[in-house]
Amino acid sequence: MDGFTPAGLLYLVATVLFILGIKRLSKVRTARSGNQLAAVGMLLAIVVTLVSPEGGVGLDWTTVIIGMALGALVGGVMAKRVEMTGMPELVALFNGFGGLASTFVAVSEFWGRYGEHMTGPPKDAAEGVVLGGGVWAIAIVLSILIGTVTFTGSLVAMAKLSGKISGNPIILPGRHLITLVLLIGGIGAGVYGTFYGEGNTAIMLVGALTLGAGLFGIVSVLPIGGADMPVVVSLLNSYSGLAASMAGFVIGNSLLIVAGALVGAAGLILTMVMCKAMNRSLGNVLVGGFGGDTSSASKGGAEEYTTVKSAGTEEAAMILESATSVIFVPGYGMAVAQAQHVVKELGEEMERRGATVKYGIHPVAGRMPGHMNVLLAEADVPYEQLLELEKINGEFKTTDVTIIIGANDVVNPEAIENPKSPIAGMPILNAFESGTVLMVKRSLSPGYAGIKNPLFERDNTYMCFGDGKAFLVDVLAELKNS
Ligand code: NDP
Repeated sequence: MDGFTPAGLLYLVATVLFILGIKRLSKVRTARSGNQLAAVGMLLAIVVTLVSPEGGVGLDWTTVIIGMALGALVGGVMAKRVEMTGMPELVALFNGFGGLASTFVAVSEFWGRYGEHMTGPPKDAAEGVVLGGGVWAIAIVLSILIGTVTFTGSLVAMAKLSGKISGNPIILPGRHLITLVLLIGGIGAGVYGTFYGEGNTAIMLVGALTLGAGLFGIVSVLPIGGADMPVVVSLLNSYSGLAASMAGFVIGNSLLIVAGALVGAAGLILTMVMCKAMNRSLGNVLVGGFGGDTSSASKGGAEEYTTVKSAGTEEAAMILESATSVIFVPGYGMAVAQAQHVVKELGEEMERRGATVKYGIHPVAGRMPGHMNVLLAEADVPYEQLLELEKINGEFKTTDVTIIIGANDVVNPEAIENPKSPIAGMPILNAFESGTVLMVKRSLSPGYAGIKNPLFERDNTYMCFGDGKAFLVDVLAELKNS
């Protein structure tokens, strides 16, 4: 441990920077500077770890430089290439890599103690010294367990988010038994291996732990689908922090313990927020008993709608001309269309005409936590116009026009009206209560949850078919010419 050495004190400074950074991230206005503070803390942590004798990683500089260069190159290229719509998958992948890194740290530490004794009993044991057991062994088991579950679980989440595998729940027969066997078997093997195992046996048992944890990650994320994915994404984010914290115990690095715990706690708070947004309990989430059954739900194909009214750009502009209050409800489709800038311009035009303009932000809109806030901040929409679900929901009743742009599940009244719906009980933005609803999307296709949305057929709803950006650009032009 680093204690009150120069390295320990600098680690303390880095920790304070992380905490201040996270605190500032809680407000949109201060988020950018919070991110910068945390980045400075991370730079300090890396430099101290590399140069100080206490924090020193004991690797030769060539290995360190090659590792950093490779990481920077791969990360830089991926971040540069990713489309805004691919961001959630990239975030899921980064969570997964965080978990994998913790597994590597724990496995390499373990190998350092046991690898040389592969043939024959460990020398230390022969000399009467206990080789395994203690905090170190528990930390190794937890680090490998949580790290590997995070890695494989995140890969499945990424595949679900990108549509490479079905976003619906994939239910394996006897999945509860399988998950239980994998979890208990994996932990049992790991604990026995690190406490009592010797040489080859210990290595094989820790291998079994890694395999069990990897399969557990896959089996526990596969059955989660539809609208429940946000909870999983934030839970995996929390796991990646916990795994890093455990890796900190493995190598005796206090900064890694604290930084990991911060990520773990922040992720857990986010998971609670997401649970609340989805109206699920965390207990439900932790035993993996969630993931709605969509088999009995209507799949929401175009053929299921009979009384849909549509409006073109000219008609939509005429409706807006007489509006004195407007709420924008953005969703995933706004990210796909990259329509945030024209949404902001349309909002400004409406304000110029004397209307009040607000934005209703649902916590699970889009494909990652905070997705809509990021996009609207990029377009410089004033923060005070962004209202969360609880704050905006009372306002729809007194609003003339709600423009729903690429949102679907988060405004689906099925959640309130149909107790059998897979999204039953999920709080929604009550857009259906406003005078007129303009629903801008390309077709009658369903959203991520894959179910019918009766809002399309409401008397006060006009479907505005088209790409979100192209449609609103034309509406704005019509308005400006009127
Ligand atoms: P939805 O996925 O419900 O709906 C998005 C809609 O956008 C689609 O119906 C689609 O309709 C439309 N769309 C797509 N492309 C365009 C385009 N170019 N122009 C206009 N519209 C477009 O999105 P919501 O934001 O309402 O809900 C988010 C869903 O994702 C929830 O079910 C949530 O649980 C889930 N989720 C959220 C995560 C999070 O952390 N926020 C993570 C994982 C999942 P069409 O094809 O007809 O255009």
